[in-house]
Amino acid sequence: MRPDLFEAPDYYNLDELLSDEHKLVRDASREWVKRSVSPIIEEYAQKAEFPTQIINGLAEIGAFGPYIPIEYGGAGLDQISYGLIMQEIERGDSGVRSTASVQSSLVMYPIWKYGTEEQRQKYLPKLASGEWMGCFGLTEPDHGSNPAGMVTNFKDKGDHYLLNGAKMWISNAPFAQVAIVWAKNEEGRIHGLIVERGMEGFSTPETHNKWSLRASATGELIFDNVKVPKENLLPNKSGLGAPLGCLDSARYGIAWGAIGAAMDCYDTALRYSKERMQFGKPIGQFQLQQKKLAEMITEITKAQLLTWRLGVLRNEGKATSAQISMAKRNNVDMAINIARKARQILGGMGITGEYSIMRHSMNLESVITYEGTHDIHLLITGLDITGLNAFK
Ligand SMILES: Cc1cc2nc3c(=O)[nH]c(=O)nc-3n(C[C@H](O)[C@H](O)[C@H](O)COP(=O)(O)OP(=O)(O)OC[C@H]3O[C@@H](n4cnc5c(N)ncnc54)[C@H](O)[C@@H]3O)c2cc1C
Repeated sequence: MRPDLFEAPDYYNLDELLSDEHKLVRDASREWVKRSVSPIIEEYAQKAEFPTQIINGLAEIGAFGPYIPIEYGGAGLDQISYGLIMQEIERGDSGVRSTASVQSSLVMYPIWKYGTEEQRQKYLPKLASGEWMGCFGLTEPDHGSNPAGMVTNFKDKGDHYLLNGAKMWISNAPFAQVAIVWAKNEEGRIHGLIVERGMEGFSTPETHNKWSLRASATGELIFDNVKVPKENLLPNKSGLGAPLGCLDSARYGIAWGAIGAAMDCYDTALRYSKERMQFGKPIGQFQLQQKKLAEMITEITKAQLLTWRLGVLRNEGKATSAQISMAKRNNVDMAINIARKARQILGGMGITGEYSIMRHSMNLESVITYEGTHDIHLLITGLDITGLNAFK
């Protein structure tokens, strides 16, 4: 892969809306991605392997639990800093951002919000430092968009719970020490359980042959009569709202992350359009290429504004799930369209691993599907504005 020459677009002077701390956090993440992700990511995506050597660096830039309080090992930052970290990481690769999102919003967040003080003390500092990695098991082979139908279940056996079932498409599963698993109790109520690697009957086979998120490890979680200690139940929230609360936080991070992927594709295509000569001119001089680039920067700018405002609402504790859903859907769709257009601007070179665009394009196919598909998010907005439920 070529040297990383990324320069972030800021067409509407959005930096003026950021505090010094936001810019410091963002610039540190950007530098780290240039130094530690860009030089190796193409190789790891090609061999379909998560680069475990970057775990310490992710922890150092605050990517594991950016908004988790410092007393639990988190970075204690606000929601905009959290978003900017996700933006910069996904500028490097959506798979790396996925690993950080899962660790922060889907593993640390439920332990912090729904766990006991003992659980917080035991797990959060190790997850924040990357000593332990976590995964989040909600999706099942027969229950994706409709997780309420899950069949994974646990029974109360007096001194422990007995867990049975299977989860599919689980990011970080092949190497995670800790899994937050959503399962139904005997009354059919959904609860979160902390399952640890090494518990008898718990296995995590890896999912192979992905053409997307190749630098992120994906796997199954299989529970065959796993004895889970009673103190591993997350006691402070149950029902589908518990995993959905985690997804709010993760989807918010994805909304920022998708901007990062789009910015990288736009920046690469813009530079290429000024250097590549055809018919005696740089291709950027042709109106058809300018149309693509002009539309890209317009869409990026709109997404930046939408997402910054969402961050302000999150900081004030006022963002609704439906507002987060809209930003996730809009921004991922925006990024995937920009990746496609950017790839065309690079012609044949666009399909190679010399540039990041094709990798972003393939990665975004997962991002538009996970954490609620594009269709599901349209229906969430539809429900919010009409009051009529298309899911029933
Ligand atoms: C790489 C990757 C990593 C993932 N990581 C995780 C993870 O860490 N943890 C986890 O729990 N899950 C994870 N997932 C799972 C992901 O969240 C699901 O794939 C997603 O929710 C969609 O479920 P599904 O694949 O079963 O598709 P389905 O639900 O079967 O949907 C198939 C199609 O039907 C459409 N559809 C479904 N219902 C409706 C409806 N009511 N109206 C209209 N259209 C509908 C969908 O939009 C989609 O187009 C991951 C997925 C991928 C690909």
